[in-house]
Amino acid sequence: MLRVLKFGGTSVGTLERINGVAQIIKKFRDAGDDIVAVVSAMSGETNKLIEYANNFSQTPNEIEMDMLLSSGERVTSALLSIALNELGLQATSMSGREAGIVTTSQHTNARIEDINTSNMKDAISNGKIIIVAGFQGVSANNARVTTLGRGGSDLTAVALAGALKADICEIYTDVDGIYTTDPRIEPKAKKLEKISYDEMLELASLGAKVLQNRSVEMAKKLNVNLVSRSSFTPEVEGTLITKEENIMEAPVVSGIALDRNQIRVGMYGVIDKPGIASAIFTALADADINVDMIVQTRGLDNTTNLDFTVPTVDIEKTKTTMIAFEDDSEKIDYNDAICKVSIVGVGMKSHTGVASKAFTAMAKDNININIISTSEIKISMIIDEKYAELAVRSLHEIYELDK
Ligand code: ASP
Ligand code: MG
Repeated sequence: MLRVLKFGGTSVGTLERINGVAQIIKKFRDAGDDIVAVVSAMSGETNKLIEYANNFSQTPNEIEMDMLLSSGERVTSALLSIALNELGLQATSMSGREAGIVTTSQHTNARIEDINTSNMKDAISNGKIIIVAGFQGVSANNARVTTLGRGGSDLTAVALAGALKADICEIYTDVDGIYTTDPRIEPKAKKLEKISYDEMLELASLGAKVLQNRSVEMAKKLNVNLVSRSSFTPEVEGTLITKEENIMEAPVVSGIALDRNQIRVGMYGVIDKPGIASAIFTALADADINVDMIVQTRGLDNTTNLDFTVPTVDIEKTKTTMIAFEDDSEKIDYNDAICKVSIVGVGMKSHTGVASKAFTAMAKDNININIISTSEIKISMIIDEKYAELAVRSLHEIYELDK
C-alpha cells in the first residue's frame, strides 16, 4: 500500500521530533508500505524567515520571498532523510521541483497546475522512501521556485496523494483528530471517527489548526482519503475525512463550529428595487472582501432589510466600500460583538426537527438569535459574542454529541 504522510511544523519542530517522525515512518516501512512523506518547515521557521525579509523591506520581492521561504521545508526534508538512512532505511529527499510539482507563477500564492510523477515513481520502484519538501513547486513558465501560500504543505501532500493514487493521505499535527467541537470550550467534545469532506469544510473553524481548507477541497476533488492524526501519539487513530458514501451511519449532527471573527453589517430600510444587492456585493467583491452570511428580508413600505457578515479584519475596507450605498438605505450599522455558531451534519438532509432543537437550546439559555441561515447540511446563527461559549456547550448537549 502507498501512504502519503504529511508532518507539520510542530511534528518536525526539534531534532528530537524529527527522530520521532523517522520512527513513525520506519514502522510503516517495516510493515511493507511504500511511503512518500511531505514535511513542513520546523515550527516558527517560516515566520522567522518572513521577519528577516521584513527587516530589509515591507514589500519584499515575491520571487525572492519564495526562494527564502521554500528553504525551511528543504531543511527538514534533508534532515529527515538523513535520519532515516541512519536507521538503515533507504530514503531520498526531493524539493518541490524534483517531485515534479509544476505551478502557476503567482509567487507566494501559486496554484498547482500539474504533477509530473516520474521522478517519484522511479524512486519508489527503486525501493526508496521519498521525503518531499512541502509548500513549494516550480513555475511552469519561468522555472522559478514558487510557494503555495501559508499552510501549503497540506496541499502538497493531498496533491501528491491524488497524483500517485495513494491509498491514504495522513496529515500529522499535534492534535489527534477532528472533534465534535473545540475541547477548550466543551471538555466533553468527542473525537470523530469519520467525517465527510463537506462537513469538514463547514467545520473549518474546528479544523483550522489541523487542516488547511484548500487541501480539504482538493481532497474532495481528487477523492483522496485524508486522515487527521497526531505525531505525538501515533498509536491513536485519527479522524478519517472521506466521501459521504463511505460513512454508513452518519450522525444527524457531526459538530458545532464557532466563528468569532465576523462582523455583522446591517442595512435597514433599503429601497426595494432591482440591482441593489448586485451593486453592493459587486463592490465588496471588487474590494476583495469575503462575504459570509447574506440575509435579506422584506420590510414595510417597499423596503427590505439586508444583513451580511464579513471578516473582522475587513471592517475598515467594508466601511469605506459601503459609503457609496449610504443613500440606498435609512441606516447602516456595524456590530463586531457578535459571533456565528453553526451546527453541521450531512444527516440533517433527511431528518426533521434539527433546527427547532437548536432554537430550543438557545431559548433555554435565554440567548437571543440575531440572524438564522441554513444550508443543506448547516444551520448558522448569529448571536451576541458574550454567549459564544454557552451556546456551543448547549448545542453540544442538546444534540448529544458527548454520547
Ligand atoms: N511552512 C509553511 C507555513 O508555515 C507551510 C506549511 O507549514 O504548511 O505556512
Ligand atoms: Mg503548517
